[in-house]
This record gives sequence, C-alpha cells and structure tokens, in this order.
Amino acid sequence: MKHLNSAQAKKRLVDGNQRFVNSTAALHHEFHPHRHTKDTQDQAPFAIVLGCSDSRVPIETIFDQSFGDLFIIRIAGNIVAPSQTGSIEFAISKFKTSLVVVLGHSNCGAISAAIDECINKTNLSGSLHSVTDRIKPSILPLISLNLPNHELMDKAVEVNIINSVKQLQSQSTIIKDAIYNNKLAVIGANYSLKSGAVQFLA
Ligand SMILES: [Zn+2]
Repeated sequence: MKHLNSAQAKKRLVDGNQRFVNSTAALHHEFHPHRHTKDTQDQAPFAIVLGCSDSRVPIETIFDQSFGDLFIIRIAGNIVAPSQTGSIEFAISKFKTSLVVVLGHSNCGAISAAIDECINKTNLSGSLHSVTDRIKPSILPLISLNLPNHELMDKAVEVNIINSVKQLQSQSTIIKDAIYNNKLAVIGANYSLKSGAVQFLA
C-alpha cells in the first residue's frame, strides 16, 4: 500500500466506518491463511489506533479494515501509560505511520468505574486502580457540575479521549518531533455503540 499522509489516512477510516454503518462493508473478515501469506513479509499500517478493550468495539470491523492495515493497542479506558506510548513510538519509528487515533466509546465500563470511584468512593480491587487512576483526573472537574448520569458519562468519555490525545502529543519526544515535522497527527474519535458511527473530534 502506498504511504498515506494523516488526512488521507483519516479519510480511509471515515469511509470505512461509513461502509460499516451503511452495512456495505467490503470485508467479511474471513480468515484464509493462504490469502494472507504476503502479510508475513512486512507490514505498513496506515493508522495507529489506541482503543478500549471493550468487546463491543472490534476496531478493524468498525473501520472495515483488514490484515496489515491498522496497528492497534487496546487497553481498558483507552488510557495512556508508558507501554502504550512505547508501542505507538515503535509504530511511528518503524512504519512511518502518519496518524494516531485515540478511540473511546459510549458507555465505557472503565469510565463508569472511575466515575463510581469518584462519587461513591468505592474501593476497586487488585490492579484496577492503575486504569482508573489515569482516568480520574480527566473527569474530576465534571463531577461537581451535577450533570444527569447519561450526560456525565458522555462528557467523561469525551474528555478522557481528549486528555489521552493531549498526553500523547506532549509526553513523547518521538511523537512531538513527528508532529512538528508535519509527519504525524494525533486525533481523538468517539464510537457510538448505538449507531456504530465514529465521530472524529478533530
Ligand atoms: Zn471502554
């Protein structure tokens, strides 16, 4: 595949999601090993996606993309922690991929857990804190607004996406340099479980 700049890469995702929403997706996502042997040679993903682990958000499917197209990092709440940043830096350095998308989604369980922790002071078990501790700073300013539950949830999802984008844009020299040299864009996007549509935030 020829190298795409960030605008071309975004358009390919927008078009793919449109096909998914319209039920005209080109791919049926069947796996035939002999058809994909070319993918064992090398890869040239046109976009990097940092998405949530939620089982209802299969990233290749919602963008109607296939083998070798997307470099995907999935973690609950699409949070930015050092290993996520490192994976993204790897893809940028190795494949010269020009677009990073932070993909959040409606009714995210990780966001819901973080809201619950803030409001009800619930105690999460095990290592769950390592996820919610990275979400809580984004949503704390919203808690005092006394919004209706669904509105608080929607806004928390969006602000968490935006904060992940900002962290990626500011915390990594490799990412900062690529953006400065017009070789990379980092943008947010929000997937609706209800409609299947992805709304790009930039
Ligand atoms: Zn989620």
